[in-house]
Amino acid sequence: STANILLRVNSIEVIYNHVILVLKGVSFSVPEGGVVALLGGNGAGKTTTLRAVSNLLHGERGEVTKGTIELRDERIEALTPAELVKRGVIQVMEGRHCFAHLSIEENLLTGAYTRSDGKAAINETLEKVYAYFPRLKTRRSSQAAYTSGGEQQMCAVGRALMASPRMVLLDEPSMGLAPQIVDEVFGIVKDLNQKEGVTFLLAEQNTNMALRYADFGYILENGRVVMEGAAKDLAANEDVKEFYLGLS
Ligand code: ATP
Repeated sequence: STANILLRVNSIEVIYNHVILVLKGVSFSVPEGGVVALLGGNGAGKTTTLRAVSNLLHGERGEVTKGTIELRDERIEALTPAELVKRGVIQVMEGRHCFAHLSIEENLLTGAYTRSDGKAAINETLEKVYAYFPRLKTRRSSQAAYTSGGEQQMCAVGRALMASPRMVLLDEPSMGLAPQIVDEVFGIVKDLNQKEGVTFLLAEQNTNMALRYADFGYILENGRVVMEGAAKDLAANEDVKEFYLGLS
């Protein structure tokens, strides 16, 4: 059914610097309450796709030149990142981007900047984030610069949650993290999805790990979707096993 589609990306093309065609007609959809993974190797176009959705291409001298992006029934290609945040679409960028000089708690609170529902409600969300990420509670007063890579990734996801998002776009959450920490981060993502109903769209090179936690996956290659399917079907597919499961 199409009734529960939250995000629909329709044949988008993205060009960088007016000449470099990077996405060559990418289509996919994300159901409300789903966890969808964009997979594929280095340079396949995953980050570009997320940036297209959250309208963060301009800073990179990129633009969507064809196709449409819809959130429910609304066209969103022309919305600013701030307008997207208001609609509950929050992107966690690759490389984490915590404010190094701020404490973990200060970092988390910056995620609530667009909310106008008051301090009490914001504190309630903060306690919720700490319930999902007990490590962040322990480290709440630590300067982010002195926390581990895993803690910084958790902080970046926690900060996104402070905005009370409907959908979180996660770019390469596993990058640079030990497998055990990746498991911990993905486990919490799955929990947030199931208990809070947050929809996730993630870009991952770590196909193996992503397919363990996602419901559905799209494999990108050279700016095109070359394969799509239920996560368990992709994980069992011989071509996927041969070409992608070794990547990480
Ligand atoms: P990665 O895991 O390396 O981030 P990816 O699948 O996310 O890979 P993209 O970062 O979307 O891939 O890059 C897709 C292609 O676009 C690559 O060929 C890359 O070199 C090119 N590209 C990315 N950003 C720019 C830019 N700002 N200007 C020009 N080309 C770019």
